[in-house]
Amino acid sequence: MVDMFKNKSDRQKYDREWKKRDYQKNNSKYRKLALERHHKLRRMTIDYYSNGTMRCACCGISEYKFLVIDHINGGGHKHVKQFRSRSAYISWFAKNNFPDGFQVLCYNCNCSKGYYGICPHQEMKQLSQEVKKELK
Ligand SMILES: [Zn+2]
Ligand SMILES: [Zn+2]
Repeated sequence: MVDMFKNKSDRQKYDREWKKRDYQKNNSKYRKLALERHHKLRRMTIDYYSNGTMRCACCGISEYKFLVIDHINGGGHKHVKQFRSRSAYISWFAKNNFPDGFQVLCYNCNCSKGYYGICPHQEMKQLSQEVKKELK
């Protein structure tokens, strides 16, 4: 048998590298699985709170990546802060049997609601309803 290593330290170095690579490989596999689980749960939660429509309750956009869970009566930041990760947060819904008080919004509508108290889409709706009333 031909030893491909010139000396012992080369062999140890090779072993170390190999272990490192193996660890990184497993680690990324684990991360991929964790991410898959996270998105499975996230999809399930968004599906539930959008009544199966997978759309923003405000503007109707259906791009999954834009969709977020909105705390209807506010307090979202405080709630999210209690969790050490996004996955822990998203798991909370299923663990608590999907409690009331949440809806699905897209990132834009959610931010506008947080910022201005109302999303411009809803403001426009209200305005057009007022105009319609006035015209009646
Ligand atoms: Zn929206
Ligand atoms: Zn909106």
